[in-house]
Parts: sequence; C-alpha cells; structure tokens
Amino acid sequence: CGIAGVFNSPYASQYAFLQIYSLQHRGQESVGISSWDGEDIRTVKKSGRVLEAIKQEDLNFLKGNNAIAHVRYSTAGDSGAANAQPIVKETVVGKIAVVHNGNIVNYVSLRRELESKGVGFDYSSDTELFLNLFNLGEFLIPEGVNVHPRDVDFIPRLMYVLSRVEGAYSFLMLYKDKLIAGRDPYGFRPLSIGRKGKTLLFASESCAFETVEAEFWREVKPGEIVIIDEAGIRSYFPFKQERRAYCIFEFVYFSRPDSFIFGDWAYNVRKELGRQLAREDDVEADVVIPVPDSGVVPALGYAQERALPLEMGLIRNHYVGRSFIEPTQELRNLRVLMKLSPNRAVLEGKRIVVIDDSLVRGTTSKRIVAMLRRAGAKEIHMRIASPPVIGPCYYGIDTPTREELIANQMDLEDIRKFIGVDSLRYLSLEGLRSCVANRNDFCDACFSNDYPIDVDKVAIERKRD
Ligand code: 5GP
Ligand code: SF4
Ligand code: MG
Repeated sequence: CGIAGVFNSPYASQYAFLQIYSLQHRGQESVGISSWDGEDIRTVKKSGRVLEAIKQEDLNFLKGNNAIAHVRYSTAGDSGAANAQPIVKETVVGKIAVVHNGNIVNYVSLRRELESKGVGFDYSSDTELFLNLFNLGEFLIPEGVNVHPRDVDFIPRLMYVLSRVEGAYSFLMLYKDKLIAGRDPYGFRPLSIGRKGKTLLFASESCAFETVEAEFWREVKPGEIVIIDEAGIRSYFPFKQERRAYCIFEFVYFSRPDSFIFGDWAYNVRKELGRQLAREDDVEADVVIPVPDSGVVPALGYAQERALPLEMGLIRNHYVGRSFIEPTQELRNLRVLMKLSPNRAVLEGKRIVVIDDSLVRGTTSKRIVAMLRRAGAKEIHMRIASPPVIGPCYYGIDTPTREELIANQMDLEDIRKFIGVDSLRYLSLEGLRSCVANRNDFCDACFSNDYPIDVDKVAIERKRD
C-alpha cells in the first residue's frame, strides 16, 4: 500500500490527492482520503485507481488544512472497497482516522482478545487494530520517555497500542487538529517527511513530494512516532532498540526508482543489482533487452558493466497497469499480453540477454520468452536481478503462497525449460546483499528464508485465520 499526509495547507486534500497519485504503483484496488475540517474528520473512499475514482467534488468536500490518504492492495483482509482506508472510528479518546502500509502478524490473536473483551470489529483489515486497541483504555509511558503536556491524552494510549501490535507498519493518523506518523521499530516499510513552506508532508516514498513541488526533508526513523499540531513537531521513541529489517524488495521491485528510501536512491541500488548480476555473468550476447518497466534500471546497470548495447526489444503499452497487482491469476495472465509487444527491429537474429527484476511464478516470463522467440531472437538468456523468491512475505508485500513460487517447485534446470530459455541465471544472495549499504539492517526473507520475526508464530497465526 501507499500512504500520504499533509499538515497545515489550505490545499491539504488536493496535495494528498497528488501525492497518492504518484504512489499509485503501491496499490490499485482502492483509494481514500480523510481531512480534518476544524471540527470533524471527513472521508471519501472508493474502489479503483486514484485518477478515475476521486472527483473534484470529492476534493471540494474534503475541507481543512490537514489530510491523509491511502492506496490499497490487499495483503490481509478482503479486497475491494469494503476494506478501503482511511479507517475512521470513534474511540475512547475521540475520533481517529488511520492509514497503514504493512502487515500486523499477530492480528488474529489480538482480534480474538479484543472481541472476547467486547470490542467490535467492522472490517477484516488488520489496520482496524490501531483504533480498536485504544478501546481497552490502557496507556503506557516507557521508562525515559517524557510526554509533552499537549500529548498526554493521546500519546501514552498510542504507545500502549503499539506495544501490542507486532509486524510491519508505517502509518499516519488524524486526531483532532493533530497529524501523527509512525514506523515500526524494524522499519520494514518506508516513510518520509517533506516540506513546502509552512506545510509538512508525509509519504511512503519521496517521489510523492515532487508532484507538489515540496522538498524531501528526512525519513521517519524506525521506531519513531512524530506528532504535529500548531505548537510544533515532537518525536517519541517508545521502543527498545530492535534489529532493523528494511524490506530489500522495495529496492528490487516495489518502490519507484526515483524515490529515496532507507538512506539510498532506489535507482542507484537497482542499477547496482544489474551491475552485480553482470559481474556474476559471462554469457556471450549481442544485445541486452529489459522487461519494461521493472527490468529497465537493472538492465542499464548490466549493459554498462558488460559494455553491451541496451535496446528496447519489448515495447510497453502504457494504458495498462502493473500486471501483478491484480488479485487473480487469470487477470494477471491476460494483462501480460496486453502490456508488452516484441520489437522485431532489434530482436531478429540476435543473441539476447533479457533482464527482469524478479522471477516469482514464472508465468509472465514464459509468455514473454515465447513472444521474443516468435519475433526471431536467435538465443535467449534470461537474467534475473534478484535471487530466487523462495518464501512468502508476512510483512506487507503480496507475494504468493510458498506452493505458487516456482523456485519452490522446480530446480534451476527445470525452470529454464519451463520458461523456454537457452540459459537462466539469478543474482546470488550474496550479490544482492552487497548492493545495499548495511546488509544487516535489511529483511531479505523472501530470498533467504531468514525471517526477522519468528515465522512459526506467523505461520500458526495464518493457519488459524
Ligand atoms: P513471473 O514471470 O514470475 O510470473 O513474473 C515476474 C515479473 O512480474 C517481474 O517482472 C515482476 O516484476 C512481476 N511479478 C509477477 N508476479 C509477481 C508477484 O506475485 N509479486 C511480485 N512482487 N512481482 C510479481
Ligand atoms: Fe520485503 Fe521479502 Fe522481507 Fe517481505 S520477506 S519484507 S518482501 S524482503
Ligand atoms: Mg515486471
């Protein structure tokens, strides 16, 4: 999912709209915006994409100087508009609106506990926990944390809520005249702060600041809670120091290349993945072909490292969205053919290296390879700018189940045959880790099975679901 927020602007809902539009790649199922109009929270939620779903009359309705917004793709809970965010509820401290990117791994047991205590749930999304936990009426002020007088009604209760949820979350909340931002102590999902005059902005990725001509200020730190009102901006660090677990898949695929996340430009890391892939490879070829769009940046790195020409051998139809984000396999398959066409001008008679960012189910790649063969490519060498995906993600990325992952079903040679290429090579796990600044601060569990939060516990939760 993608989240965005605006504090202190007469154009709050318009800016939130523009920001969330530039985060559309993080979710296409539904979109929602809430604003604080000075007395109450107003909300618009729709299914579908930002530009089609949100109308001028919606933005006119969303009055006020503070706003938060969300684009959703489902990792937990049902898809469609029913679970669209922001989720807005009355709590013991008053009305709160929340948007969340991530996945709460102990959702099932927390939900049971709350229901047994008479707290009702209106949605099947884990995000509702952030509000319902307020209703236990508990609060927590960890040792060494000083709470500002303006925050005593809210922050200790939020700290209690966050002491109960476990997993991945970057969130934004509206509460009265305040905007609150937070990131789990592992830092799984990105979240940044931007500035534009006296307006502060928040976004999953820094690319969202460019659309409103704001400047990137800094990332929200792992385990940091930021609260802003007219008295200024305050930060709390309620968690004991945990290991970090930034999602490396954000660099491989999920984030836009023009975003600055986890202390690096996604573009630079992604290009380095291609360079490293090239260093691990010596196949003879005439030309490097990226699979648009996700393969373009690593292909640039690969081609530059090996001094091979890069050519656009696959042309993308820009009126079709990202293929994997559709929730069913049937739609995904159809979309591949709608999206890409082979460019015979550069393929005929050539030995080609085809670069993609990741291989997940193998179904997309199989169709692309067939397309390249039909267009006359002489040899096809598939190169993947990440290691085999061997495990599902429990922390907010919608990877398929273990059984659907092709690398769990077949060995390298069988995958090569299945896809129909002359050779197949992945980036090594060591190579992937060498492309980020502090490898120990990253989660790479879907490539390594090294889960930063106990996977047995998660698996048990899942089974009970
Ligand atoms: P495959 O050949 O494994 O079906 O698809 C690989 C391509 O589609 C890559 O370009 C990758 O960007 C994207 N992709 C397909 N399915 C998924 C998925 O379930 N999750 C993710 N993260 N990416 C996918
Ligand atoms: Fe990211 Fe993979 Fe870790 Fe999930 S398991 S947080 S996709 S690196
Ligand atoms: Mg792709």
